[in-house]
Amino acid sequence: MPLIQVLDEQTIDKIAAGEVVERPSSVVKELVENAIDAKATAVTVEIRDGGTTLIRITDNGCGIAQDQIPVAFFRHSTSKIRSVDDLVTISSLGFRGEALSSIAAVSQVELITKTTDAFTGSRFLIEGGKEVLLEEVGAPNGTTFLVKNLFYNTPARRKFLKMPQTEAGYINDMMERIALSHPDISFKFINNGQIRLHTSGNGNLKDNIYHIYGRDIAANLLDVQETFENFSVSGYIGKPVISRGNRHFESYFINGRYIKSSIIAKAIEDGYRGCLMQHKYPFTVLSICLDGNLVDVNVHPNKMELRFSDEEELYRQILNLIHRTLQKRELIADVTLKEEKKSAEKPSFDKKRFRNRLRKTGWIRYARPSGRTVPMSRNTSTERANLLQNLFLRPGSDRYPNRNPG
Ligand code: ADP
Ligand code: MG
Repeated sequence: MPLIQVLDEQTIDKIAAGEVVERPSSVVKELVENAIDAKATAVTVEIRDGGTTLIRITDNGCGIAQDQIPVAFFRHSTSKIRSVDDLVTISSLGFRGEALSSIAAVSQVELITKTTDAFTGSRFLIEGGKEVLLEEVGAPNGTTFLVKNLFYNTPARRKFLKMPQTEAGYINDMMERIALSHPDISFKFINNGQIRLHTSGNGNLKDNIYHIYGRDIAANLLDVQETFENFSVSGYIGKPVISRGNRHFESYFINGRYIKSSIIAKAIEDGYRGCLMQHKYPFTVLSICLDGNLVDVNVHPNKMELRFSDEEELYRQILNLIHRTLQKRELIADVTLKEEKKSAEKPSFDKKRFRNRLRKTGWIRYARPSGRTVPMSRNTSTERANLLQNLFLRPGSDRYPNRNPG
């Protein structure tokens, strides 16, 4: 009979890491969430090669005290809850204390951090879950994580990664959602030295939508703001005219957390029923605030799935809210009156009058039967300038005829 043994810590960490760290974008998600929980107002994420060789995340949050650093990398070590009861009132994004230990188990991590009240900062190196170095260094307030060579010691996982540009795309997507869920924080995302996203952190969600999705989307949004008995919903939904071919543009956040929920997606889509063509999906950015005891965030280590205590109520209210918002507004695509006004003001170019004036001034002597005018002599440049000025035509202006009569 084979011997039954308890696995060693590093093997346990590597196995557990599989659930939290699936790919580079999971590392980014966990570390950015930590930065948000640390009350950072600016977070920069820089990646190389789709995050496989380097992920650097810098924040200006509270930092970690030197004596706390090794503890932070233990499995199930957290500063965010003390007991399971705290999950009911939890306002932080993290609470399971698994991210740092999981990330450190499958990569080479360098941490530089400083708290506001410390004189110096600290630098900590940990590779494959083994501590390598802890030293004092000069550092600004806040925290920087460098995660190098992800899955260098778990080749099976590394094999399942996609091309660097695909992995970078996942990270870009994650950064956009996080930026939308926290418009009060400035996020910068740099991929292979190029800035891909930079939000201002001015708290204006519409600014972020404009920045991420562009003018057409931002110009076709409907405001949503409603408080129900147990929860509130705020944000924007797109007019049917900006519907999309897939669900990718349906974003919703529960208590500041980007999640996937079939119940909320269904409520949104059913709310649009009758307004969208078949196989079209709406654009939404909705922030839902729920009482802690109505939602269970502890379903999966990646915290992307939630369980609601009263799903039906949530479904019904969101569906009705979307439906009412869509009915309330004029949904016919906005006609750009500006354009019309502009062209109405502009006098049309009168070809006949123009040709007569040219003939009178002697610039054109006669017209061929074909109608094409042929100049017999060239006027001096002053004459020409005067003539054009008389006709209110200036070279370069939109009233200046394309064909040069001279
Ligand atoms: P969790 O976020 O679930 O608490 P993590 O493993 O992600 O667990 O982090 C462990 C602890 O390390 C956190 O509880 C927090 O105290 C500390 N920490 C991690 N990242 C940061 C950061 N960027 N700034 C300040 N403290 C941090
Ligand atoms: Mg965390």
